Amino acid sequence: AAKNAGRNRFSYFTPALQVAALNRMRMTNDLRSALKGGQFRVYFQPIVHLRSGKIHKAEALIRWEHPQRGLVSPLEFIPLAESSGLIIDIGEWVFMESARWASRWRRDHHPEFQVSVNQSPLEFQREGKGYEGWLVHLRELGLSGQAVVVEITEGLLLDASDGVTDKLLQLRDAGIQVALDDFGTGYSSLSYLKKFDIDYLKIDRSFTRNLAPESSDMALSEAIIVMAHKLGLRVIAEGVETHEQRDLLLAAGCDYGQGYLFARPVPAEEFDAMLMAQTRELAAGADLTSPAP
Ligand code: C2E
Ligand code: MG
Ligand code: MG
Ligand code: MG
Repeated sequence: AAKNAGRNRFSYFTPALQVAALNRMRMTNDLRSALKGGQFRVYFQPIVHLRSGKIHKAEALIRWEHPQRGLVSPLEFIPLAESSGLIIDIGEWVFMESARWASRWRRDHHPEFQVSVNQSPLEFQREGKGYEGWLVHLRELGLSGQAVVVEITEGLLLDASDGVTDKLLQLRDAGIQVALDDFGTGYSSLSYLKKFDIDYLKIDRSFTRNLAPESSDMALSEAIIVMAHKLGLRVIAEGVETHEQRDLLLAAGCDYGQGYLFARPVPAEEFDAMLMAQTRELAAGADLTSPAP
């Protein structure tokens, strides 16, 4: 009986695995045609200077407008894009779009406006081709490297190979700044902050979520901010959803906030309208230091 049960369990799992493998294959093909067929969108979410309430930057976040399934989250397809290698071409495309919009927002809204793009470890560590293509594109747009920030994660720096160090130097030479994304969720070995030239530290949403006076996440956030400032980094808090979180972060000296309190990620045209509205409000003498609920 035990043998039978074992066999049953086995045959129960096998088709499920086959279905999963088949789905992965189908999704990979879908991803490939999505890139060719123009089904990807870059959404932008504002990064707000907390003291002034002004939108200084935006993070580019990819979306897949699937003909049948609607808007698909990157959490669902980035892992597959990575394992299939498609992430390289997808990342190039995200960069091109982001640079194009950054150029426009620098011209129309603020000469120092920055757009940040995410780079998964696989994109960052790719062999051979470095950032030459990016530089050519920036030159064509007449754009300084300062217009772009690359977001990487801690894990990359932890076992930093020569390749990683090299890529970081290439970015530095091009004037492109670097942000450490999801800070606090990984190994958080702090020694690499002084070893590498990082410009921004993004405090992960899991800290922001539990911010309350006297809470341990508050204490940790305060310590991270003080340390970052001492090392010459600026701090962006992710996942700011409430006024209380914003006020606590501001009191702790955090430089920037990003989150639903300010806005969700939106299509580029909508982001453009958001910037235009802010410019109008500022011209009319509005006080942006306390965003409406
Ligand atoms: P991330 O880089 O940490 O991006 C922040 C994520 O938090 C985004 O999720 C954003 O929509 C979400 N978020 C922002 N504010 C709030 C908030 O107040 N509350 C909550 N609950 N969530 C908030 P999204 O757009 O689903 O992206 C997920 C992840 O996918 C990103 O995390 C990033 O790691 C990856 N990703 C997105 N676009 C790209 C891309 O173009 N290339 C690569 N390699 N990865 C990307
Ligand atoms: Mg990011
Ligand atoms: Mg993040
Ligand atoms: Mg993340």
